[in-house]
Amino acid sequence: MLKIYVDTTANYKPWCGAVSTYETIVEEDKLDDLDFLLKELYPEGISESHLNDILWFESDWVFAQLGIGNMVECGYCGEIFDEEDLDEDEDGEKLCPNCQHEIEY
Ligand SMILES: [Zn+2]
Repeated sequence: MLKIYVDTTANYKPWCGAVSTYETIVEEDKLDDLDFLLKELYPEGISESHLNDILWFESDWVFAQLGIGNMVECGYCGEIFDEEDLDEDEDGEKLCPNCQHEIEY
């Protein structure tokens, strides 16, 4: 299979489950941030199919990285949660439901 390496999303057309993730990113005007994230994570470039898989299967992670919606990543355990699902301690601090560490914004 031909691997096409992209270092920006400029010529990338998502397919299947990645389409809605991609459209959300476009609507939120976060494509530049996605490009920046990809360059940071994959300085050698990333194949289109790999990029598509990330947008398809790791959409929560992508949204958390790009600051889209209410998805937040725990800095300790790396789990992704909807902000509404976070636990709270008696001081109103948001806690990771997984590891009970405080979530920093
Ligand atoms: Zn955690």
